[in-house]
Amino acid sequence: MAGRPKTDIQPDLTKGIPSQFVEQGDEQIIQPNNQNEQLKEKAQTVFNQKTALIETVKLPTRGLVPNIPGEITIRALQRKDKKKVLMTEVDDILLALLQHVLVEPQNFNIYNLLPFETKYLLYRLRVLTYGNQHTFKDRCPYCSNVNDVELDLNILDVKEVPDSFKTLFDIGPLPVSGTILKCKLLTEGERAEITKRAKELKDATGNDAVEMDMLWEARVVAINNDSKLAPVEITQFLDELTDYDSEWFMEYYYKYEGNYGLQTKLNYNCDECKGRVESEMPSIYTFFRPTFKINIAE
Ligand SMILES: [Zn+2]
Repeated sequence: MAGRPKTDIQPDLTKGIPSQFVEQGDEQIIQPNNQNEQLKEKAQTVFNQKTALIETVKLPTRGLVPNIPGEITIRALQRKDKKKVLMTEVDDILLALLQHVLVEPQNFNIYNLLPFETKYLLYRLRVLTYGNQHTFKDRCPYCSNVNDVELDLNILDVKEVPDSFKTLFDIGPLPVSGTILKCKLLTEGERAEITKRAKELKDATGNDAVEMDMLWEARVVAINNDSKLAPVEITQFLDELTDYDSEWFMEYYYKYEGNYGLQTKLNYNCDECKGRVESEMPSIYTFFRPTFKINIAE
């Protein structure tokens, strides 16, 4: 294997972030058209060599966020990874799998990433392990026909953050009260910790709103420049907001949080009425598996 020339691999990413398909110590061109066949062949070669198919993924945050690398290298999922993860208690199976397949940087904790980064990594891991095709069913809003929508996961748009991107950002002045809220994006780890603590508190107190309150208390770090507020004071302040401001604030936060990474909105023409349908890619959790048909001969 040594001595063979190295070639840069450009999958069919006309838009978004080019990723490199690399095999340890060796690389080869993959044509987009028969990529599935080639991936299968490559998987067989790799299986025979007992080394995993790997890919270096450029993160949408491009190294601009402190302590988050610009690139992360992952390897294709193997049966042993699923066995390990399914036999331990984890709060999120896909994140636990992602931690297992991390190659570089070594010992990096996946939970330090922002959710739009892990989502993008999971989608690349899906392509790396099971290929780039996925078909899902979607109902046309005009004629109710159920369409089979075919996705090429390699040509979805991925939005990188701008140079000015910050995980701490101001929202406001809010339209009615003029309040300025300093907010932060939560990492996977922060979210997971809140979910865990909220569950314990909910079980103990019966308060159903506790998780929602804790999430917003963590997301808001200062109100009108006052950063010394106790969590309960933040909840009290948000509860007292006029609902116009409250809705405006939450909408802004969710838009900012969902603005980057994999763009999941898509359009297609309905098979039946030919209408242009605007739709949304299903969650990665619904298609993290291979697509194939097995026919058992009679
Ligand atoms: Zn239709």
